[in-house]
Amino acid sequence: MTYNRLSADKARYWRSLDNSRIQCTLCAHACIIQDGSKGHCSARQNRSGKMILPFYAWISSAAIDPIEKKPLRHFMPGTSTYSVGFWNCTMDCPFCQNWEIAHPQPAYIQEEIIEPDRLIELAMASGCPSISFTYSEPLLHIEYVIEAMQIAHSRGLKTILVTNGNALDEPARHILAHTDAANIDLKTADPLIYRRLLGGELKVVQNFIRVSVQLCHIEITSLAVPGVLDSSAQIEEISSFIASLSQEIPLHITRYHPAWKYTKAPLSPETMHEMTESARKYLKYVYSYW
Ligand code: SF4
Repeated sequence: MTYNRLSADKARYWRSLDNSRIQCTLCAHACIIQDGSKGHCSARQNRSGKMILPFYAWISSAAIDPIEKKPLRHFMPGTSTYSVGFWNCTMDCPFCQNWEIAHPQPAYIQEEIIEPDRLIELAMASGCPSISFTYSEPLLHIEYVIEAMQIAHSRGLKTILVTNGNALDEPARHILAHTDAANIDLKTADPLIYRRLLGGELKVVQNFIRVSVQLCHIEITSLAVPGVLDSSAQIEEISSFIASLSQEIPLHITRYHPAWKYTKAPLSPETMHEMTESARKYLKYVYSYW
């Protein structure tokens, strides 16, 4: 694979260590990367003691979606949004619903390079009033996304981030300052499940949500997965955390379908209904999909 030459001077959120090692300071993994190696996500690499971004501007998919599909129900309702996705992810959820682009085999990755200014031209030509960074994890490509968001704002487009929220405080504040609306996953209230099964950090995601509340419109998505988030007690923990920030934050509870490494049967409609009603004890706007 050739890496995008334009990535060489773009990388932020890393620091030099001894012996040409570097540390990535973007997500909770805080990977220490040897010269010639890549981080846990495969999308940030060490070349001669410097961070490079091998997938800078590599787009996996683009489409026009209803904004409700992000899902966002309380931001520009009834409009369409130009939606773009990337490759790879910072987390490892074994039930990933977008695993083909979040955890692709290297041979499957297609080199489709669209620079930020060209991307915004395409979004403008679509006639949509907003652009969404979505499908796979956009935070992993934060340098590109911020660049595109700045151009989008200069052209009058709103910016939307659909994310796992697994970014440390400094990059979180940086990208959210350029974000108009975010839909953030809150996958479980159990920190051990977050860390051991999903490869994320609950506290980091909760901080991302707190910062988002200060800087942009937010809505939360919780995927109901057997063994991860499958009971009224668990959704009440999530809902009470969200309510501690604002009872007005919309919560979307979506039903998982078997995908990638996970084959367990989806939750029953009865359980989905019970979880939805439990969340409504804490929050004004709860939407569920099954
Ligand atoms: S983004 Fe996260 S997983 Fe990727 S290299 Fe940086 S710290 Fe590691």
